[in-house]
Amino acid sequence: MQKLILPMNQTQVLVGYKNAVYQTEWSRPHYGVDYANTTNDKTVWAMGEGEVIAAGMDNVYGGTAVVLYKDVYIHRTGEIRDLIARCYHMQELYCKKGQKITTASKIGLMGNTGQYTSGPHLHVELDLDTKWPTYTIELKNDSNIMKHGTGVDTTIDPSGVLYVKASAPDNQTLVPNKIYENGNWFAREDWVLPLYDQPKDYEQLYNQTLLQLEEQQQKYTQLVQKLCDLCKQAQE
Ligand SMILES: [Zn+2]
Repeated sequence: MQKLILPMNQTQVLVGYKNAVYQTEWSRPHYGVDYANTTNDKTVWAMGEGEVIAAGMDNVYGGTAVVLYKDVYIHRTGEIRDLIARCYHMQELYCKKGQKITTASKIGLMGNTGQYTSGPHLHVELDLDTKWPTYTIELKNDSNIMKHGTGVDTTIDPSGVLYVKASAPDNQTLVPNKIYENGNWFAREDWVLPLYDQPKDYEQLYNQTLLQLEEQQQKYTQLVQKLCDLCKQAQE
């Protein structure tokens, strides 16, 4: 099992998955999440341990990398699945087909290449269909790397999968983009992602503490009741 982390270290979210405002503005669904760097560092890193299935300059999506990540934990549902990740619009590519990558691998630089882009950003798309990794229902015709899909949508929300790795060497931060936030281009769940470094038993500890507090409260309630009864008896 592996957890995937953000592909850029200091980043902000611009547009969420299947965002309604995007759909109205561009007359098509948004099948991924858009991120932009908040510093001058445009490095795009691998999100986990994976294998590059395709990489190159696509005539529609610009600098494109298609990566297979296996046994990925989907924190929103608790499932573990193999996933295809597609990243678009990169200015430069540092990976090639067949390459094995880890979170220490630079796969490219964020850019503004290809169509469907109105400013520098990285489009991150996750797909459960690992059999046809370069197929997308978005395309009406094949591009040079991507293929026109069958019309079945197998993409999932990257915000339900990705983690923020706050510890070294990544030291990741994720913030909302103020301009886009006012137009409701994304939800809170798109930038409040779980921490990669959160202890595994965090949830268990939290639940235990809650239970203890409830037990204590019950005891106090019983005590107060006893005291009241005693008072009544004394008055009588
Ligand atoms: Zn996008």
